[in-house]
Amino acid sequence: MKITDIMKERMSLSFEVFPPKMEQPLEPLLETIEDLYKFKPDFISCTYGAGGTNAGRNVEICKYIEEGKKSIPVTHYTCIGNQKDNIKDDMRNYLDLGIDHILAMRGDFPKGWTETRGDFDYANELVKFIRENFPEFQIAIAANPEKHIQSPSFDSDIAHLRNKQDMGGDLIMTQLCYDVDHYEWWVDRIRKAGIHLPIDVGVMPVLSKDPTIRMAVSNGSAVPRELAEVIGKYGDNPEDFKKAGKEYTVNLIHKFMTAGIDGLHIYTLNKSQDVTDILHAAGFPSY
Ligand code: FAD
Repeated sequence: MKITDIMKERMSLSFEVFPPKMEQPLEPLLETIEDLYKFKPDFISCTYGAGGTNAGRNVEICKYIEEGKKSIPVTHYTCIGNQKDNIKDDMRNYLDLGIDHILAMRGDFPKGWTETRGDFDYANELVKFIRENFPEFQIAIAANPEKHIQSPSFDSDIAHLRNKQDMGGDLIMTQLCYDVDHYEWWVDRIRKAGIHLPIDVGVMPVLSKDPTIRMAVSNGSAVPRELAEVIGKYGDNPEDFKKAGKEYTVNLIHKFMTAGIDGLHIYTLNKSQDVTDILHAAGFPSY
């Protein structure tokens, strides 16, 4: 089953998890994944550390999900430090393990780097390479509704997104965005630019003050008035902040669903209890 087939029928529900560091045990994350299965997620994506860090664990996690047969694993993969030969080996390895969905990205540069130090400079080249050499993959591409922070303009960023579609992308997975009005404006802009792919919207739960601000600001994302209010009112009290942040996240999910989205992708931060609270409050059943 391909993710885009699911999205043709209904809104998909999915989760993002990140692998532990090599020296840390896998078990807590495996328990988190088992717990998340109660929502019958259509897929679970696993991040891929920049510069190859945690790449080994990424494969272990995707393999675990594939073998569990309860959800589709989607591996993240980047151009950082990767050459054509080792990309081919990695792709073959994923396919041998039954992992045939990939989010193909450029990746963020590790500290001190100004380029990918690999064979590809941008995601569109990686997408083209995978599409040409490994047609079995369903390929997701990353997009930022508020414009990628390094991009000089929306026009330029959207043209590059169109290019990733034309090189073989099958669906879009978005960066966090707290401003749903802006998201709708962006969808209109990309549709007018000929980008027709289904859009899986990433929602970052609001759980604690500093990470919320840091993640928004590092992506150049807006902090809308309602979220600023949560930060201003409850920022000094972690418990109250989390309660208000969860309510804010539930509202955000409802706003996105009202706007009309093809998929809802929760960045779980590996916190299954908080995600459970949010999804139950948003009306999603668990089994
Ligand atoms: P690109 O599409 O290559 O774009 C990068 C920048 O270059 C943009 O400004 C774009 O406008 C511009 N551009 C694109 N093509 C060209 C071109 N041909 N010529 C000139 N300029 C161009 N990072 C990780 O390291 N690991 C992860 O697991 C990970 N998971 C993510 C999951 C999601 C859902 C998202 C949205 C992002 C994730 N990221 C991850 C972050 C991502 O790697 C960064 O946003 C990265 O900075 C850009 O990746 P990209 O694939 O969008 O790059």
